[in-house]
Amino acid sequence: MSVSKTILVLGGGVGGLVAANRLRRDLPARHRVILVEREASHVFAPSLLWLMVGARRLPEITRSFDGLKRKGIDVVRGEVESLDPELKEAVVAGRVLKGDYVIVALGAEFYPEATPGLVESGHTFCTPAGAVALRPALAEFRGGRLLILTAAPAYKCPAAPYEAAMLLEADLRKRDLRDRTRIDLFAAEPGPMGVAGPEVSRGVRAMVESKGIGYHPEHQVVTVDAATRRARFSNGVEAEYDLLVYVPGHRPPPVVVAAGLVGESGGVSVDRHTLATRFEGVYAIGDVTSIPLKLGKPLPKAGVFAHAQAEVVARAIARAVTGRGRSAEFDGHGECFVETGGGKAGFGSGDFYAEPVPRVTLRGPGRVWHVGKVLLEKVWLWRWF
Ligand SMILES: Cc1cc2nc3c(=O)[nH]c(=O)nc-3n(C[C@H](O)[C@H](O)[C@H](O)COP(=O)(O)OP(=O)(O)OC[C@H]3O[C@@H](n4cnc5c(N)ncnc54)[C@H](O)[C@@H]3O)c2cc1C
Repeated sequence: MSVSKTILVLGGGVGGLVAANRLRRDLPARHRVILVEREASHVFAPSLLWLMVGARRLPEITRSFDGLKRKGIDVVRGEVESLDPELKEAVVAGRVLKGDYVIVALGAEFYPEATPGLVESGHTFCTPAGAVALRPALAEFRGGRLLILTAAPAYKCPAAPYEAAMLLEADLRKRDLRDRTRIDLFAAEPGPMGVAGPEVSRGVRAMVESKGIGYHPEHQVVTVDAATRRARFSNGVEAEYDLLVYVPGHRPPPVVVAAGLVGESGGVSVDRHTLATRFEGVYAIGDVTSIPLKLGKPLPKAGVFAHAQAEVVARAIARAVTGRGRSAEFDGHGECFVETGGGKAGFGSGDFYAEPVPRVTLRGPGRVWHVGKVLLEKVWLWRWF
């Protein structure tokens, strides 16, 4: 019988949740699985888009971490204040936690403050508080110019701003405000979902433009002025707005930077198949990582990858501890729904590790893919809690 081991899972988002659940299922009870998370509950991020347009209420897409305690996972609520990957130790709310294995799943931190004026001027649907605050702002909006912008060329969920634009457009149509509203999407990136390849990018752009939404790629916002309600871009263009909705840029969590885990790429470097860091027994998964692809851009930050990586790492640790089970490798496959409004969605899927460029196809839009996303939400919120 092996001695008792402790696995520290840092972060209770998509990756951390899946990893902790899988480890608890695969490890005998004498081994400890500790999940550290600062929040009391988990919010299913893809549904924030529905929350924004009133199709969901926050409690419907939120689950308490208490459900994990009933499964035998030790949930420690608190801030990871520091991390020593060499010693496999984390300080959480002043208390030292030591693991035999550590999974860093602390995500990427939104950093809207990098754009002067953005926070004071607009609303973001990317956080629960932001999506909730956008509801009344949208209800008060009686027409004019709706500006949607991405504050950086790369961000979590490359589909999200495009879905947001189409869902907002559908909401305005439903409320008979579409004729009185001009909608423009100013993107810092050269096109939608660029890492998925030119065909997918063209497809998503066509979906957006078919709704009469003006699309302006390669517009990097520099400042936003709340008083004059104008956004200024690095190419000299200025755009006025009556309602501003944005996707913020992000940065790696400071505690991961301080731990010396973040390289020049801006994320934790890992083996692209095993998610192992350069520290033995320490893995990193999900948005906190940066995995370079042959085409010169990193693997997109998306829950689907965080999930798959968590399964791989949990399996590797369970196998190392028990000597049983199959090994697995993360192969870069992923898929995502692209909500287009009116109860329809597109569906992109493929191999992001394919070389020289990812091989991804886009299907739809159709009702079946929207139903698929609803099912994903229901299953997710039931399965992991
Ligand atoms: C609006 C929106 C829609 C999206 N839609 C999709 C989609 O349809 N499909 C898809 O694949 N992806 C989607 N995503 C992206 C997806 O949510 C992320 O890629 C995914 O959550 C990443 O998982 P993660 O575990 O790496 O990080 P997260 O899920 O961000 O988890 C990190 C966790 O760590 C915690 N944490 C951070 N720092 C600390 C600290 N110091 N101490 C304690 N706790 C800490 C955080 O509170 C958080 O719970 C969407 C994102 C947004 C914003």
